[in-house]
Amino acid sequence: MIENSSLILVQVICLLSFAATIAWTVMVTPMRVAPSASWRFALANFSILIGMLLYTQRTFEPSYLHWLIADNIILVGFCLLRWGAQRLYHLNSSYQFDIGVLLVTCGFMLMVQPQAENASYLMIILSLAASVLFFMLAKDHYTAFKANFTAFATYWLVVPIFLIGLLFFIRSVILIIYPEKVATYAAFNTEQSIPVLWTYIVLILVVNILIIGNTINRLVVKIMTLANKDPLTDLWNRNALQKKLTAEHDRWLRDKVMYSVVLIDIDHFKQINDTHGHTAGDEVLKLTAKRLSKVTRKIDFLCRFGGEEFVLILPNTTEQQVLCVADKLQQTLAEIDFKWQGTPIQIQASIGCVTITESLAVDSLLQLADKAMYEAKASGRNCIKSAN
Ligand code: GH3
Ligand code: MG
Ligand code: MG
Repeated sequence: MIENSSLILVQVICLLSFAATIAWTVMVTPMRVAPSASWRFALANFSILIGMLLYTQRTFEPSYLHWLIADNIILVGFCLLRWGAQRLYHLNSSYQFDIGVLLVTCGFMLMVQPQAENASYLMIILSLAASVLFFMLAKDHYTAFKANFTAFATYWLVVPIFLIGLLFFIRSVILIIYPEKVATYAAFNTEQSIPVLWTYIVLILVVNILIIGNTINRLVVKIMTLANKDPLTDLWNRNALQKKLTAEHDRWLRDKVMYSVVLIDIDHFKQINDTHGHTAGDEVLKLTAKRLSKVTRKIDFLCRFGGEEFVLILPNTTEQQVLCVADKLQQTLAEIDFKWQGTPIQIQASIGCVTITESLAVDSLLQLADKAMYEAKASGRNCIKSAN
């Protein structure tokens, strides 16, 4: 017999996980938002729904279906949350570990009869396994977030998942100390179980809100990357350059930290295209981008300005220093040993530099670097000119 108010709460839990299953399925198709992660999240909610429905069918008769299988279907749901998050953040998958946890859980559960008399023992095993899976889920999120978010944001995103793991752990400890409390902490069908059922409702809501937030965040990061990156060379594009230049100029105005701008234009690039084909030209651009990136500092900003032109912003760099950097860039290009279908192709560039001074406006910097670069072209190419 199920007590009336707890029956309503169980129905709410089932309704929530059913709605979440539908919502995630819609994300897979037709919306196609992170589909490989979303279908795992849909299945996770569906597993929790099936597990809950089986729970409600428990009687005093022993039943592997309503105890062992119901518990493990819920645990599979928690594993699917992990596997979805790993897909979303491109982390290594943990199938082996998680399946190991499920097998160990089944092993321990099989040591007793699947019936109400062993409810507290079975609930302890279930709670311990759930806490391990949520702790690992929190660890996955920590690994993914610390690369993209501030420490503060990481803390607030990881802590709720960690707390869910902690709740399961505390429940298993309480059941070990007071096994007779099983009616309150483990059951689903008594008046005493109502606070725990509420906890499950909050848990389903929190988990789904978190993963929806993460999925949307992932999408936004992807769109922002596409808007700011050049697809051929994977360097920043002109759009990102403007933001970086403004930020660097603000720093100059505020703290008087000098910065320099370098414009690099590959010499006779059209000739490379005309002689060897467009694909060869593309390869030259990719290789140039790769080598230039290698010799610049982490704080420098290299972007593809357009066609065969690259712009480098050098924070904290003076007029003398920028000339040394330009020398190094020229040297780097000269050392590229590129062959297209057996024919060597020499990569050379004309370089224009400019360093910020009190009398210069941010808008004029690129024009000045461009002017200096054209002077280099006029002086026979493959050389460096400064606008200062
Ligand atoms: P200069 O020494 O005066 O700089 O001559 P150039 O041939 O390098 O410069 P020009 O501006 O005459 O030609 C640039 C060429 O770059 C023309 C254009 O077709 C080619 N180009 C622009 N974008 C791409 C690209 O993404 N891939 C390839 N392969 N070629 C490109
Ligand atoms: Mg050009
Ligand atoms: Mg050129």
